[in-house]
Amino acid sequence: MFNIVIFGAPGSGKGTQSENLISYYGLYHISTGEVLRDHIARGTDLGKTAAGYISEGKLIPDDLMVSILADILDNTPEAKKGVIFDGFPRTINQAEALKAMLAGRGAKVDAVVGLEVDEDELVDRLIKRGKESGRSDDNLETIKKRLQVYHSQTQPLRDYYIKEGSYVAIKGVGSIESIFDSIKSAIKEKCGK
Ligand code: AMP
Repeated sequence: MFNIVIFGAPGSGKGTQSENLISYYGLYHISTGEVLRDHIARGTDLGKTAAGYISEGKLIPDDLMVSILADILDNTPEAKKGVIFDGFPRTINQAEALKAMLAGRGAKVDAVVGLEVDEDELVDRLIKRGKESGRSDDNLETIKKRLQVYHSQTQPLRDYYIKEGSYVAIKGVGSIESIFDSIKSAIKEKCGK
């Protein structure tokens, strides 16, 4: 398995660069945000639970999120080759759970691609996206809350993955193509692929 985590604040370009990574490496994409939005659209029990957290900009509890992810990994044959994890992990607990889940499959997180973007730019991008996305969480109040949650709960993962030796820092500004070129070179350097 070849596994990449795409990491960064809301609005850092994780979704956009995941699309490039999928076509280039032929990996399976798991966006936990998209999985949750799909449940909300289908009106499932999980969707009903998730909707409140998402519209308030809060994280879904770790145990629930980890069991959703384990279920996807267990039941998706296409994920056997490798996965791009987009929006997961978001806490140290989730990172530990991911490490254990992959170890059970004889695999690991091969690279963590950290898209680094200034806060002002993030807010601008998210407000712009909100005008088109119709997402319940792309409004100024929830954007601010999501960025706070990112700083307090998710950003510590940067140091966690630096210590693990898998983090690569990518400047997440410029054209989509130039950012992707930097990602490809960084992955090549780290993993030889
Ligand atoms: P995203 O599409 O990645 O920006 O995620 C949208 C929202 O879904 C987040 O603000 C959280 O409320 C929820 N969410 C997505 N992924 C996770 C995760 N790994 N852990 C907890 N909550 C998550």
